[in-house]
Amino acid sequence: MGIASTWYRKTLLTVTGIPLVEKLGVTYGKRLAGRFIAGETLEEALDEVGRLGSLGIMATLDHLGEGIRDLSEAAAYKEQYIKLITGIAERKANSNVSLKPTQMGLALDQPACYGNIRDVVKHARRHRNFVRIDMENSPFTQATIDMVRRLHKEGLTNVGTVLQAYLHRTEQDAAELIGERISLRLVKGAYKEPASLAYQKTSEILDSFRRMIALHLEKKAYTAIATHDDNVIGWVKAYARTKGIPKHAFEFQMLYGLRMSEQEKLAKEGYRIRCYVPYGVMWYPYFTRRLAEKPANLMMVLKHMSVKKRNRLSPFSGGKG
Ligand SMILES: Cc1cc2nc3c(=O)[nH]c(=O)nc-3n(C[C@H](O)[C@H](O)[C@H](O)COP(=O)(O)OP(=O)(O)OC[C@H]3O[C@@H](n4cnc5c(N)ncnc54)[C@H](O)[C@@H]3O)c2cc1C
Repeated sequence: MGIASTWYRKTLLTVTGIPLVEKLGVTYGKRLAGRFIAGETLEEALDEVGRLGSLGIMATLDHLGEGIRDLSEAAAYKEQYIKLITGIAERKANSNVSLKPTQMGLALDQPACYGNIRDVVKHARRHRNFVRIDMENSPFTQATIDMVRRLHKEGLTNVGTVLQAYLHRTEQDAAELIGERISLRLVKGAYKEPASLAYQKTSEILDSFRRMIALHLEKKAYTAIATHDDNVIGWVKAYARTKGIPKHAFEFQMLYGLRMSEQEKLAKEGYRIRCYVPYGVMWYPYFTRRLAEKPANLMMVLKHMSVKKRNRLSPFSGGKG
C-alpha cells in the first residue's frame, strides 16, 4: 500500500469516528451508500437479488450488523437470519446467506454463538439452503473453524466458511478442511494482521492465494474464489482450461457495487458468479470500510450519486429519505 493510499485510508477512518462527521455521514451517506448496500429492508434486498438473478448472477445475502454488546442482540440477529432464509425460499431467490460469527455472539459467549449459528444452519437445511460463515480477524479463526467442523460432525453439512490466503496457517487448514469436504470461500484477507501470523507482501499473499486455489481445484473440491483482481481471475480461467476443469467446478464471488460489469461479463461467459449482497439498517460501518479501501470507491460513489439524483433511483428513496 502506497503512502498516499495509507494516508487516505487513515484519514477517512479517523474522521468517521468524529461525532459531527458521523452525523453528517449517516444523514447524507444514506444516498451514497446505495452504491454498496442493497437497501435497508429484506424486501429491498430480495428485489435486488431478483434483478441480479435476471442477469445470471447468484447472490449471498448478508444482514449487516456488527459490534454487538449483549446476547439479546445476537438473538435478534439470529431471528433476522431465520426470516431472511424464509424470505429467500418464498421468493425462490437464487441466494444463500453469509453471516459474521461475532454478530451471533462469538466475542461474548462461544457456546451461545454456536447455538445461534446451529439454529440458522438447521433452518437453512429445512429450506435446502446454505450458510457461509465469514472469517473475521485472527482471534476468531480457530473458533470459527471449530464451530463449522462441529456442525459438520452433527450432520449439518450445509455450512462452510472462509480461508484467508494471507494467514500462514491457511495452507494447513485448507488441506484439512478439504479432506473433511467442508465448503470454503477463498479470499486474500481483509484485516490488519501481524507479520508473525500473516504474509505482509502483496506478492506473497498472491502466491498463497494461487496455491490454495490450485489445491482446491486439483482435489475436485467445489471452489469459491472471492476477488475483484483481474490477475487472479485470468489466472484461474487459464488454470482451469489447461487442467480441463469444467466451469461448474468453481465460482467467482465479488462484492455488491464493485465491478458489476465484470460480474455480468463473467456470467455471460458461462462462469458461475455470486454477488455478496449486504443490506440492513447497520450499513454505516460497512460503507465507510468500502470507502476506506480505495479512493476510487469514493469517486464511484459520488458519480453514482449524481446519476441516481438525475434518475431518482436511490434504493433508499421511496418515502424513507
Ligand atoms: C465475496 C467476498 C467475500 C469476502 N469475504 C471475506 C471474509 O469472510 N473475510 C475476509 O477477511 N475477507 C473477505 N473478503 C475480502 C477479501 O479478503 C479482500 O480483502 C478483498 O476482496 C480485496 O481483495 P481483492 O482480491 O478483491 O482485490 P485487491 O487486492 O483489493 O485489488 C487487486 C487488484 O484488483 C483490481 N480491483 C480491485 N477492486 C477493483 C475495483 N473495484 N474496480 C476495478 N478493479 C479492481 C485492481 O486491479 C487491483 O489492483 C471478501 C471479498 C469478497 C469479494
